[in-house]
Amino acid sequence: MKSALTAKFRAIHGRAPEIIARAPGRIEFIGNHTDYNGGTVLGAAIDRGVWVALAPRDDQQRRFSSDQRGAIVSVAVDRLERLSGDESWANYPLGVLAALPVFGVRAPAGFDYVAMSDLPAGAGLSSSAAIEMASALAFVTAAGEQPARETLVKAARHAENHFVGVPCGILDQGVSGFGRKNHLVFIDCRGPHFETVPLPGGVHFWIVNTHTKHALVDGLYAERHRECMAAARALGVQLLVEVSPAALAAGERKLSPVQAKRARHIVEEIARVDRTRAALRAGDLAAVGALLTASHRSSQMLFENSTEELDFLVDTLVATPHVHGARLTGGGFGGAVMAMTSGDFAEHHANEVAVAYGRKFGTRPDLLHAQTGDGAALLPV
Ligand code: ADP
Ligand code: MG
Repeated sequence: MKSALTAKFRAIHGRAPEIIARAPGRIEFIGNHTDYNGGTVLGAAIDRGVWVALAPRDDQQRRFSSDQRGAIVSVAVDRLERLSGDESWANYPLGVLAALPVFGVRAPAGFDYVAMSDLPAGAGLSSSAAIEMASALAFVTAAGEQPARETLVKAARHAENHFVGVPCGILDQGVSGFGRKNHLVFIDCRGPHFETVPLPGGVHFWIVNTHTKHALVDGLYAERHRECMAAARALGVQLLVEVSPAALAAGERKLSPVQAKRARHIVEEIARVDRTRAALRAGDLAAVGALLTASHRSSQMLFENSTEELDFLVDTLVATPHVHGARLTGGGFGGAVMAMTSGDFAEHHANEVAVAYGRKFGTRPDLLHAQTGDGAALLPV
């Protein structure tokens, strides 16, 4: 990938890049909708990502191109405005440029920029965070800055929230930034506090993307957010993370039936994240898998952010040999399911799942086999 990127940079700009950075995509491992409730979440950086090559220019132009888009997007240094249409992909790097000074970090002036990726976009693997984090690392390097990794993570999230306009939590950028091969990233969203947690060997991930999306997904997400906040208020706390399972049982009568279901999902999911860490420490992959599947069942029954398609995939996957567990990954209401498998789970097993899905729903889902990978890093040019 790196040599292809360098060749492409040369072909477009007639010279070699001076900086190359790469950042991975991520899987939400467990911790569903826990982030905005102040809870904890485990994610995995995967072995696919976005590469960014960059070289400074003498003039005041920033010239962006990508293997996934046609024309070069040229933007003067003093014009940091949101772009639309074919150029809108450049809002991700532009948003990072706009966000860096908010965190006291200088942005570089003119440069040539080329992005290249082996991470499918829009597949629930957070290609947006990957392009933001790779861009952030390339930009601060070009500007001669060395901010803490956490600052890069926050600036990238700020870009997505405020410039692109997607209200994502800290998971995406946090995992892309702090990921490590053969590890998971644990995030305590109240700090936020980031930690890597060893993942026992021999674990594989399969992502099955349905390409379905509930027509009302944004509204439903906001509705779940409101329901959680209302449940917290009714229980006399600011965020549901402050409620223990025992306190919830004692206070449940103060909640509407819907609020009670939402709160139970969050409170139990946060407990499941803890139990997952303990099971990982013990090297008990069967227990970890059971927790993943339990997380999905809770989405299905209590948080009601699953769909018939996602439930079918989880049911089919957990009945397939060599699958430790499976769950919806990401916000839900459509999207993708991830399965944690042993290395014996082969392409043909995945294909059988896809064929069964096709028979029932008439379309074939995308399959992607991934393992863990390292977080955002500069690469030698
Ligand atoms: P996800 O983060 O789940 O992949 P998003 O819709 O949040 O989906 O982000 C996808 C968008 O990110 C793409 O539509 C594109 O604008 C941008 N993007 C991701 N990777 C690249 C890339 N290699 N080149 C250009 N734009 C990219
Ligand atoms: Mg995204």
